[in-house]
Parts: sequence; C-alpha cells; structure tokens
Amino acid sequence: MSELLSTALVTGGSRGIGRAVAQTLAAAGYQIFLTYVSKPDEAEQTARAILAAGGRARAFRLDVGDSESVAAFFRDEVRERVELAVLVNNAGITKDGLMLRMKDEDFDRVLGINLRGAFLCLREAAKIMSKQRYGRIINISSVVGQMGNAGQVNYSAAKAGLIGMTKSAAKELASRSITVNAVAPGFIETDMTAALSDEARDAYAKAIPLGRLGSAQDVADAVAFLASDKASYITGQILAVNGGLYC
Ligand code: NAP
Repeated sequence: MSELLSTALVTGGSRGIGRAVAQTLAAAGYQIFLTYVSKPDEAEQTARAILAAGGRARAFRLDVGDSESVAAFFRDEVRERVELAVLVNNAGITKDGLMLRMKDEDFDRVLGINLRGAFLCLREAAKIMSKQRYGRIINISSVVGQMGNAGQVNYSAAKAGLIGMTKSAAKELASRSITVNAVAPGFIETDMTAALSDEARDAYAKAIPLGRLGSAQDVADAVAFLASDKASYITGQILAVNGGLYC
C-alpha cells in the first residue's frame, strides 16, 4: 500500500457539478484536489465545506486551457506527492450562438477548455496512474454531445469529442488497470443553466421523461460509482444521467 494520500483531482471543483463531485468523493474517503480558474472564493468555500465535514481538500488555480500550467501543476503538486487515484475532468464552459454567426474564437475557446483541456489533464494523469498501475478517470461529457443542440455546435462537438477520447483512452490504459469512463449529464441545475428563462426551463422539464432538471448531486453519485471498486469491470462507457431525455 502506498503511504501517499489517495487523492481525487476534480477540475472545475469550485461550484456546480464539480463542487458536488468533490464533496461526494471526499465523503468516500479521498483527499480532494479541486481546481478553479476565476472564482477563488467559491473554490475555498468548497474546500472549507469538505474540511468541516471531516475530509481533506485543497484548492488550486489552474486554467486547463493552458498546456504549460497543466504540466507544471501535475509536476509540482501531484506527481510523487500524492497517490492519484481519481481524475474527474469536469471543467467546462459554454459560448453559445447559432453556427452561421459563431466566431472562430468562440469555437476554439470551447474546444480548448472542454476537450483539449480534458486531454491535457488526462495525459498527465495517465502517466502517473500508469506507474501506479491503478486509476479511475471520469470525463464529464453531456447529453448534447450525444443528441446535438441548436446554438451549441462548439459545445456539442467538444462533448462528443470527449466520448471518443474516453473510449480510445480506455483501450490504451486498460492493461494498467486504469478505467476511463464518461458521465453524460442532461440538463442540471447549476450556474451554467441558470441563464435559462422560466419558459425554456419548463420546456426542457416537459421534454424530460422524469419531469425535472437534474441536480448536481445526481451527477456526483454517478461519478462516485464509476470511481468506486464496484465499477472495476466498467471501462470505455458513457453513463447518461439525464432523466431519460436521450436513451
Ligand atoms: P459551472 O457551474 O459553470 O462550473 C464550471 C466550472 O468549470 C467552474 O468550477 C469553473 O471555475 C470551471 N472552469 C471554467 N473554465 C475553466 C478553465 N479554463 N480551467 C479550469 N476550470 C475552469 O458548470 P457546471 O454546470 O457545474 O458544469 C460542470 C461540467 O458539467 C462542465 O463540463 C459542463 O459542460 C458539464 N455539463 C453541465 C450540464 C448542466 O446542465 N449544468 C449538463 C451537461 C454537462 P470557476 O468557478 O473558477 O469559474
């Protein structure tokens, strides 16, 4: 057994789904490393809540879109300092707009954070986990990566890309007992969906067979399952948490 602390790294753990994931994995016994990019107060609030519940957590500023920062973070804070048991690639942004009017930079930015950023963290984590011969990687995709969504060509391309990346990485890493899976949430109540009008929210709720938007905890519970020993024979899979919206 390693004497290093068994750690789960949650990118974008400052709020929303990432916060719920961080708290749930902390309750499962992991030390939590959570990252943020623009909201240090929210990140500290998540870390404090975990400490108050008897867990261990540290918050780090890390822009997953910046290759050098990602490499430096894994080199200086993770490698040989902790046992990296779990990576949850959760950081994500939207820059919505109809395709005909979408600016190049809005396409590139969303792909750069949501897909390339996840790849950068996945690659660094895979190096460490390969040496350990153990690891769990969970990528947060989206229902719109599976079914598409008008106004989200960039975001749905990134989220569909994560599905392909998950399946390929699962094949590359299986021989080292590293599993790679994705969770594809439907419409979840967080800051990301807070901008929806009441009408849009009602329309989405009507389209969801279970009749409601999901909670961050709904997603966190699926992530915790995939991180657990109970999921040790599951890899390369996409677990939809969407109330039946797309099945
Ligand atoms: P959120 O509330 O907007 O939180 C986004 C998180 O990502 C924050 O922690 C944010 O950090 C972090 N982040 C943003 N840009 C970053 C960057 N460049 N580097 C590192 N971290 C960055 O979003 P959410 O709704 O919880 O979504 C979490 C994940 O679930 C995303 O990947 C999203 O695409 C996916 N998802 C969400 C829904 C939904 O309905 N909400 C549905 C399907 C999938 P700061 O707090 O510092 O800004």
